[in-house]
Amino acid sequence: MKLSSKFIEDEAFVCVQCHYCRVCPAFQSLKWESVSPRGRMYLLKGIAKGQIEPDSIAVEDFYKCTTCGACEVVCQTSIPLIEVWERARAEFVEAGKAPLPAHRKMREVAEKNGNPYGEKRGERSRWAEGFQFKDKAETIYFAGCTASYRMYELARNTVEFLNKAGIDYTYAGEDEYCCGSPFLRTGQRDIAKKFFLKNYEEWKRRGVRRILTTCSGCFRTIAKDYPEISEEFGLEWDFEVVHTSQLIHQLVEEGKVEFEEWSERVTYHDPCHLGRHMGVYEEPRVVLEKMGAEIVEMEHSRENALCCGAGGGVKSQFKELAMDMGKRRIEEAKETKAKYLVSCCPFCKLHLKQASEGEMEVIDLIELVNSRAKVLNNPGTKAGEQTDRRS
Ligand code: SF4
Ligand code: SF4
Repeated sequence: MKLSSKFIEDEAFVCVQCHYCRVCPAFQSLKWESVSPRGRMYLLKGIAKGQIEPDSIAVEDFYKCTTCGACEVVCQTSIPLIEVWERARAEFVEAGKAPLPAHRKMREVAEKNGNPYGEKRGERSRWAEGFQFKDKAETIYFAGCTASYRMYELARNTVEFLNKAGIDYTYAGEDEYCCGSPFLRTGQRDIAKKFFLKNYEEWKRRGVRRILTTCSGCFRTIAKDYPEISEEFGLEWDFEVVHTSQLIHQLVEEGKVEFEEWSERVTYHDPCHLGRHMGVYEEPRVVLEKMGAEIVEMEHSRENALCCGAGGGVKSQFKELAMDMGKRRIEEAKETKAKYLVSCCPFCKLHLKQASEGEMEVIDLIELVNSRAKVLNNPGTKAGEQTDRRS
Protein backbone atom coordinates (compact mmCIF):
# COMPACT_ATOMS: atom_id res chain seq x y z
CA MET A 1 0.00 0.00 0.00
CA LYS A 2 1.27 3.47 -0.90
CA LEU A 3 0.11 6.63 0.84
CA SER A 4 -1.10 9.18 -1.66
CA SER A 5 -1.22 11.96 0.95
CA LYS A 6 2.03 13.80 1.59
CA PHE A 7 0.34 15.32 4.64
CA ILE A 8 0.09 11.95 6.43
CA GLU A 9 3.63 11.03 5.50
CA ASP A 10 4.99 14.34 6.82
CA GLU A 11 3.03 14.15 10.08
CA ALA A 12 4.02 10.52 10.68
CA PHE A 13 7.66 11.56 10.79
CA VAL A 14 6.89 14.36 13.28
CA CYS A 15 5.81 11.86 15.94
CA VAL A 16 8.58 11.35 18.51
CA GLN A 17 6.92 8.26 20.04
CA CYS A 18 6.76 9.93 23.48
CA HIS A 19 3.45 8.25 24.38
CA TYR A 20 1.91 11.29 26.09
CA CYS A 21 -1.10 10.31 24.00
CA ARG A 22 -1.70 7.25 26.17
CA VAL A 23 -4.71 9.19 27.53
CA CYS A 24 -6.52 7.74 24.49
CA PRO A 25 -9.75 6.16 25.81
CA ALA A 26 -9.53 3.25 23.36
CA PHE A 27 -5.97 2.50 24.47
CA GLN A 28 -7.07 2.78 28.12
CA SER A 29 -9.71 0.13 27.40
CA LEU A 30 -7.63 -2.31 25.37
CA LYS A 31 -4.02 -1.53 26.39
CA TRP A 32 -2.67 -2.61 23.01
CA GLU A 33 0.07 -0.52 21.49
CA SER A 34 -1.50 -0.96 18.04
CA VAL A 35 -4.59 0.88 19.33
CA SER A 36 -2.67 3.76 20.88
CA PRO A 37 -2.12 6.96 18.88
CA ARG A 38 1.62 6.29 19.08
CA GLY A 39 1.10 2.81 17.62
CA ARG A 40 -1.01 4.23 14.81
CA MET A 41 1.65 6.78 13.97
CA TYR A 42 4.25 3.99 13.95
CA LEU A 43 2.09 2.06 11.50
CA LEU A 44 1.72 5.09 9.22
CA LYS A 45 5.46 5.71 9.32
CA GLY A 46 6.07 2.07 8.39
CA ILE A 47 3.63 2.34 5.47
CA ALA A 48 5.25 5.59 4.34
CA LYS A 49 8.69 3.95 4.37
CA GLY A 50 7.34 0.96 2.45
CA GLN A 51 8.28 -1.33 5.36
CA ILE A 52 4.77 -2.31 6.50
CA GLU A 53 1.90 -3.65 4.45
CA PRO A 54 -1.09 -3.35 6.82
CA ASP A 55 -3.11 -6.55 7.16
CA SER A 56 -6.77 -6.68 8.16
CA ILE A 57 -5.94 -6.77 11.89
CA ALA A 58 -3.79 -3.64 11.65
CA VAL A 59 -6.56 -1.84 9.77
CA GLU A 60 -9.17 -2.95 12.31
CA ASP A 61 -7.02 -1.66 15.16
CA PHE A 62 -6.59 1.62 13.33
CA TYR A 63 -10.38 2.00 13.35
CA LYS A 64 -10.60 1.43 17.12
CA CYS A 65 -10.62 5.18 17.55
CA THR A 66 -13.58 7.46 18.13
CA THR A 67 -11.77 10.47 16.58
CA CYS A 68 -12.40 12.12 19.95
CA GLY A 69 -9.30 14.31 19.74
CA ALA A 70 -8.01 13.67 23.28
CA CYS A 71 -4.65 12.68 21.78
CA GLU A 72 -4.43 15.93 19.82
CA VAL A 73 -4.81 18.01 23.00
CA VAL A 74 -1.78 16.37 24.64
CA CYS A 75 0.40 15.66 21.60
CA GLN A 76 3.90 16.93 22.39
CA THR A 77 4.65 17.80 18.78
CA SER A 78 1.25 19.38 18.00
CA ILE A 79 0.28 16.91 15.29
CA PRO A 80 -3.27 17.52 13.97
CA LEU A 81 -4.11 13.94 14.85
CA ILE A 82 -7.86 13.99 14.12
CA GLU A 83 -7.12 15.01 10.55
CA VAL A 84 -4.39 12.37 10.30
CA TRP A 85 -6.78 9.61 11.45
CA GLU A 86 -9.52 10.66 9.06
CA ARG A 87 -7.26 11.06 6.07
CA ALA A 88 -5.52 7.76 6.76
CA ARG A 89 -8.89 6.02 6.89
CA ALA A 90 -9.72 7.51 3.50
CA GLU A 91 -6.42 6.03 2.25
CA PHE A 92 -7.39 2.59 3.59
CA VAL A 93 -10.71 2.86 1.76
CA GLU A 94 -8.93 3.89 -1.43
CA ALA A 95 -6.54 0.95 -1.09
CA GLY A 96 -9.51 -1.43 -0.72
CA LYS A 97 -8.61 -2.30 2.90
CA ALA A 98 -11.69 -0.58 4.33
CA PRO A 99 -14.51 0.28 5.03
CA LEU A 100 -14.99 -2.27 7.79
CA PRO A 101 -18.15 -4.42 7.50
CA ALA A 102 -20.41 -2.30 9.76
CA HIS A 103 -19.31 0.89 8.02
CA ARG A 104 -19.89 -0.66 4.60
CA LYS A 105 -23.37 -1.70 5.69
CA MET A 106 -24.03 1.79 7.04
CA ARG A 107 -23.14 3.16 3.63
CA GLU A 108 -25.39 0.72 1.77
CA VAL A 109 -28.43 1.64 3.84
CA ALA A 110 -27.65 5.35 3.75
CA GLU A 111 -27.38 5.33 -0.03
CA LYS A 112 -30.93 4.01 -0.12
CA ASN A 113 -32.52 5.94 2.73
CA GLY A 114 -30.37 9.00 3.42
CA ASN A 115 -29.57 7.94 6.99
CA PRO A 116 -27.05 5.49 8.53
CA TYR A 117 -29.69 3.70 10.62
CA GLY A 118 -31.40 2.13 7.61
CA GLU A 119 -34.70 3.71 8.60
CA LYS A 120 -37.22 4.72 5.97
CA ARG A 121 -36.66 8.10 4.40
CA GLY A 122 -40.42 8.79 4.62
CA GLU A 123 -40.27 8.48 8.41
CA ARG A 124 -37.59 11.09 8.95
CA SER A 125 -40.03 13.69 10.21
CA ARG A 126 -42.20 11.35 12.26
CA TRP A 127 -40.89 12.97 15.44
CA ALA A 128 -42.49 16.23 14.29
CA GLU A 129 -46.07 14.96 14.35
CA GLY A 130 -48.32 17.79 15.48
CA PHE A 131 -45.94 20.59 14.51
CA GLN A 132 -46.20 22.78 11.45
CA PHE A 133 -43.25 24.46 9.80
CA LYS A 134 -42.72 27.33 7.42
CA ASP A 135 -41.37 26.47 3.99
CA LYS A 136 -38.82 29.29 3.97
CA ALA A 137 -36.93 31.17 6.67
CA GLU A 138 -33.42 32.44 7.36
CA THR A 139 -32.90 29.87 10.12
CA ILE A 140 -33.32 26.14 9.59
CA TYR A 141 -33.50 23.52 12.31
CA PHE A 142 -31.33 20.59 11.21
CA ALA A 143 -32.55 17.72 13.41
CA GLY A 144 -29.97 15.13 12.26
CA CYS A 145 -30.41 11.35 12.01
CA THR A 146 -30.11 10.37 15.69
CA ALA A 147 -32.75 12.79 16.96
CA SER A 148 -34.96 12.08 13.94
CA TYR A 149 -34.96 8.30 14.34
CA ARG A 150 -33.74 7.46 17.84
CA MET A 151 -34.24 10.48 20.13
CA TYR A 152 -37.55 12.14 19.24
CA GLU A 153 -37.64 13.96 22.57
CA LEU A 154 -34.59 16.04 21.69
CA ALA A 155 -36.03 17.29 18.44
CA ARG A 156 -39.46 17.92 19.97
CA ASN A 157 -38.00 19.84 22.90
CA THR A 158 -35.92 21.89 20.49
CA VAL A 159 -38.82 23.00 18.32
CA GLU A 160 -41.00 23.64 21.37
CA PHE A 161 -38.28 25.89 22.72
CA LEU A 162 -37.82 27.66 19.37
CA ASN A 163 -41.55 28.28 19.22
CA LYS A 164 -41.63 29.65 22.76
CA ALA A 165 -38.69 31.91 21.99
CA GLY A 166 -40.41 33.18 18.84
CA ILE A 167 -37.57 32.14 16.55
CA ASP A 168 -38.48 32.29 12.87
CA TYR A 169 -37.31 29.01 11.36
CA THR A 170 -37.94 26.28 8.84
CA TYR A 171 -37.36 22.51 8.91
CA ALA A 172 -36.68 20.39 5.81
CA GLY A 173 -38.49 17.22 6.97
CA GLU A 174 -37.99 14.38 4.51
CA ASP A 175 -35.76 16.63 2.41
CA GLU A 176 -33.16 16.66 5.19
CA TYR A 177 -30.33 14.16 4.59
CA CYS A 178 -27.67 12.75 6.92
CA CYS A 179 -24.99 15.42 7.41
CA GLY A 180 -22.41 12.79 6.42
CA SER A 181 -20.49 12.74 9.71
CA PRO A 182 -20.36 8.93 10.10
CA PHE A 183 -18.91 8.69 6.59
CA LEU A 184 -16.36 11.47 6.94
CA ARG A 185 -15.11 9.89 10.16
CA THR A 186 -14.75 6.44 8.57
CA GLY A 187 -12.98 7.54 5.39
CA GLN A 188 -16.00 7.50 3.05
CA ARG A 189 -15.92 11.09 1.90
CA ASP A 190 -17.66 10.51 -1.43
CA ILE A 191 -21.05 9.69 0.07
CA ALA A 192 -20.75 12.55 2.57
CA LYS A 193 -20.26 14.85 -0.42
CA LYS A 194 -23.46 13.56 -2.01
CA PHE A 195 -25.40 14.34 1.16
CA PHE A 196 -23.76 17.75 1.36
CA LEU A 197 -25.14 18.60 -2.08
CA LYS A 198 -28.67 17.48 -1.16
CA ASN A 199 -28.68 19.57 2.03
CA TYR A 200 -26.99 22.56 0.43
CA GLU A 201 -29.51 22.75 -2.42
CA GLU A 202 -32.41 22.46 0.02
CA TRP A 203 -31.04 25.22 2.24
CA LYS A 204 -30.56 27.51 -0.74
CA ARG A 205 -34.09 26.81 -1.96
CA ARG A 206 -35.47 27.74 1.45
CA GLY A 207 -33.49 30.99 1.69
CA VAL A 208 -31.53 29.76 4.70
CA ARG A 209 -28.67 31.80 6.20
CA ARG A 210 -28.34 30.14 9.60
CA ILE A 211 -28.27 26.41 10.40
CA LEU A 212 -29.19 25.32 13.91
CA THR A 213 -28.28 21.85 15.19
CA THR A 214 -28.88 20.00 18.46
CA CYS A 215 -26.41 17.29 17.47
CA SER A 216 -22.75 18.02 18.15
CA GLY A 217 -21.67 15.68 15.34
CA CYS A 218 -23.86 17.51 12.82
CA PHE A 219 -22.60 20.82 14.22
CA ARG A 220 -18.94 19.93 13.68
CA THR A 221 -19.61 18.50 10.24
CA ILE A 222 -21.65 21.41 8.94
CA ALA A 223 -19.48 24.10 10.54
CA LYS A 224 -16.09 22.59 9.75
CA ASP A 225 -16.35 20.02 6.95
CA TYR A 226 -19.07 21.59 4.81
CA PRO A 227 -17.14 24.80 4.03
CA GLU A 228 -14.26 22.62 2.75
CA ILE A 229 -16.56 20.41 0.69
CA SER A 230 -18.29 23.50 -0.60
CA GLU A 231 -14.95 24.80 -1.84
CA GLU A 232 -14.22 21.47 -3.54
CA PHE A 233 -17.47 21.91 -5.49
CA GLY A 234 -16.71 25.58 -6.18
CA LEU A 235 -19.85 26.60 -4.27
CA GLU A 236 -20.23 29.68 -2.13
CA TRP A 237 -20.48 28.99 1.62
CA ASP A 238 -22.34 31.80 3.35
CA PHE A 239 -24.10 30.06 6.22
CA GLU A 240 -23.76 30.66 9.91
CA VAL A 241 -23.81 27.40 11.88
CA VAL A 242 -25.05 27.43 15.47
CA HIS A 243 -25.44 24.77 18.12
CA THR A 244 -28.54 24.96 20.34
CA SER A 245 -26.38 25.50 23.43
CA GLN A 246 -24.98 28.64 21.79
CA LEU A 247 -28.41 29.92 20.81
CA ILE A 248 -29.80 29.39 24.33
CA HIS A 249 -26.72 31.06 25.80
CA GLN A 250 -27.21 34.06 23.53
CA LEU A 251 -30.90 34.39 24.44
CA VAL A 252 -30.06 34.13 28.14
CA GLU A 253 -27.30 36.75 27.87
CA GLU A 254 -29.66 39.08 26.00
CA GLY A 255 -32.15 38.71 28.83
CA LYS A 256 -34.76 37.11 26.58
CA VAL A 257 -34.97 33.84 28.48
CA GLU A 258 -35.18 33.22 32.19
CA PHE A 259 -35.81 30.03 34.10
CA GLU A 260 -38.27 28.86 36.70
CA GLU A 261 -36.65 28.47 40.08
CA TRP A 262 -34.69 25.25 40.23
CA SER A 263 -31.70 23.87 42.01
CA GLU A 264 -30.13 20.53 41.30
CA ARG A 265 -26.70 18.95 41.37
CA VAL A 266 -25.62 18.16 37.81
CA THR A 267 -22.50 17.11 35.98
CA TYR A 268 -21.79 18.03 32.39
CA HIS A 269 -20.33 15.74 29.73
CA ASP A 270 -18.51 17.66 26.97
CA PRO A 271 -19.35 15.99 23.64
CA CYS A 272 -16.05 15.64 21.72
CA HIS A 273 -17.55 17.22 18.62
CA LEU A 274 -18.76 20.26 20.55
CA GLY A 275 -15.80 20.67 22.89
CA ARG A 276 -12.46 19.56 21.49
CA HIS A 277 -13.55 19.77 17.84
CA MET A 278 -15.32 23.15 18.07
CA GLY A 279 -14.14 24.78 21.30
CA VAL A 280 -17.62 25.16 22.83
CA TYR A 281 -17.10 24.51 26.54
CA GLU A 282 -18.54 27.45 28.44
CA GLU A 283 -21.95 28.14 26.90
CA PRO A 284 -23.70 24.98 28.17
CA ARG A 285 -22.18 25.49 31.62
CA VAL A 286 -23.29 29.14 31.78
CA VAL A 287 -26.83 28.12 30.82
CA LEU A 288 -26.89 25.42 33.51
CA GLU A 289 -25.66 27.90 36.11
CA LYS A 290 -28.30 30.45 35.10
CA MET A 291 -30.88 27.71 35.54
CA GLY A 292 -29.73 27.34 39.13
CA ALA A 293 -27.80 24.11 38.71
CA GLU A 294 -24.86 23.27 40.90
CA ILE A 295 -22.30 21.91 38.45
CA VAL A 296 -19.92 19.31 39.80
CA GLU A 297 -17.19 18.58 37.28
CA MET A 298 -16.09 15.03 36.55
CA GLU A 299 -12.44 14.05 36.97
CA HIS A 300 -11.95 14.69 33.25
CA SER A 301 -13.72 17.69 31.79
CA ARG A 302 -13.51 20.34 29.07
CA GLU A 303 -10.56 19.62 26.72
CA ASN A 304 -9.59 16.59 28.84
CA ALA A 305 -13.09 15.12 28.94
CA LEU A 306 -13.41 11.39 28.37
CA CYS A 307 -15.18 10.44 25.17
CA CYS A 308 -18.57 8.70 25.55
CA GLY A 309 -17.13 5.96 23.34
CA ALA A 310 -19.61 6.02 20.48
CA GLY A 311 -18.09 8.19 17.75
CA GLY A 312 -15.87 7.57 14.75
CA GLY A 313 -17.75 4.42 13.74
CA VAL A 314 -16.73 2.61 16.95
CA LYS A 315 -20.26 2.01 18.23
CA SER A 316 -21.34 0.32 15.02
CA GLN A 317 -18.24 -1.83 14.49
CA PHE A 318 -16.82 -2.41 18.00
CA LYS A 319 -19.77 -2.53 20.37
CA GLU A 320 -17.90 -3.93 23.38
CA LEU A 321 -15.16 -1.35 23.14
CA ALA A 322 -17.73 1.45 22.81
CA MET A 323 -19.58 0.17 25.86
CA ASP A 324 -16.39 -0.13 27.90
CA MET A 325 -15.53 3.51 27.21
CA GLY A 326 -19.11 4.57 27.94
CA LYS A 327 -19.11 2.75 31.27
CA ARG A 328 -15.89 4.47 32.30
CA ARG A 329 -17.53 7.83 31.66
CA ILE A 330 -20.59 6.78 33.66
CA GLU A 331 -18.37 5.77 36.60
CA GLU A 332 -16.85 9.27 36.61
CA ALA A 333 -20.30 10.81 36.48
CA LYS A 334 -21.53 8.67 39.37
CA GLU A 335 -18.62 9.81 41.52
CA THR A 336 -19.94 13.39 41.36
CA LYS A 337 -23.17 12.28 43.06
CA ALA A 338 -25.05 14.43 40.57
CA LYS A 339 -28.73 13.86 39.89
CA TYR A 340 -28.31 14.47 36.16
CA LEU A 341 -25.60 13.72 33.66
CA VAL A 342 -26.22 16.50 31.14
CA SER A 343 -24.92 16.50 27.60
CA CYS A 344 -25.51 18.39 24.38
CA CYS A 345 -25.66 15.66 21.76
CA PRO A 346 -28.23 12.97 20.96
CA PHE A 347 -25.54 10.42 20.10
CA CYS A 348 -23.79 10.95 23.46
CA LYS A 349 -27.13 10.72 25.24
CA LEU A 350 -28.10 7.54 23.41
CA HIS A 351 -24.81 5.85 24.19
CA LEU A 352 -24.37 7.06 27.78
CA LYS A 353 -27.93 6.07 28.57
CA GLN A 354 -27.24 2.55 27.34
CA ALA A 355 -23.93 2.45 29.22
CA SER A 356 -25.51 3.66 32.46
CA GLU A 357 -28.04 0.81 32.51
CA GLY A 358 -30.44 2.97 34.49
CA GLU A 359 -27.90 3.94 37.17
CA MET A 360 -27.65 7.56 36.09
CA GLU A 361 -30.20 9.96 34.64
CA VAL A 362 -28.78 11.10 31.31
CA ILE A 363 -30.44 14.16 29.82
CA ASP A 364 -29.78 16.69 27.07
CA LEU A 365 -29.46 20.38 27.91
CA ILE A 366 -32.37 21.28 25.63
CA GLU A 367 -34.71 19.00 27.59
CA LEU A 368 -33.85 20.74 30.87
CA VAL A 369 -34.02 24.17 29.28
CA ASN A 370 -37.34 23.66 27.54
CA SER A 371 -39.03 22.38 30.67
CA ARG A 372 -37.97 25.45 32.70
CA ALA A 373 -37.58 28.31 30.26
CA LYS A 374 -39.70 31.43 30.56
CA VAL A 375 -39.48 33.66 27.52
CA LEU A 376 -39.64 37.25 28.70
CA ASN A 377 -40.02 39.17 25.52
CA ASN A 378 -40.99 37.04 22.54
CA PRO A 379 -38.88 38.77 19.90
CA GLY A 380 -39.98 37.17 16.66
CA THR A 381 -42.85 35.76 14.67
CA LYS A 382 -44.89 32.70 15.44
CA ALA A 383 -43.14 30.56 12.85
CA GLY A 384 -43.26 26.81 13.30
CA GLU A 385 -46.15 27.16 15.71
CA GLN A 386 -47.17 23.93 17.29
CA THR A 387 -50.71 22.77 16.63
CA ASP A 388 -50.68 19.88 19.04
CA ARG A 389 -48.71 19.92 22.27
CA ARG A 390 -48.39 16.17 22.71
CA SER A 391 -44.91 15.21 23.88
S1 SF4 B 1 -8.87 10.50 18.62
FE1 SF4 B 1 -9.43 9.69 20.67
S2 SF4 B 1 -9.79 7.50 20.35
FE2 SF4 B 1 -8.68 8.27 18.54
S3 SF4 B 1 -6.52 7.92 18.94
FE3 SF4 B 1 -6.96 9.99 19.64
S4 SF4 B 1 -7.49 9.78 21.80
FE4 SF4 B 1 -7.61 7.73 20.89
S1 SF4 C 1 1.93 12.52 21.86
FE1 SF4 C 1 2.19 13.03 19.68
S2 SF4 C 1 4.42 12.87 19.37
FE2 SF4 C 1 3.98 11.79 21.28
S3 SF4 C 1 3.67 9.64 20.67
FE3 SF4 C 1 1.67 10.61 20.70
S4 SF4 C 1 1.34 11.26 18.59
FE4 SF4 C 1 3.53 10.88 18.82
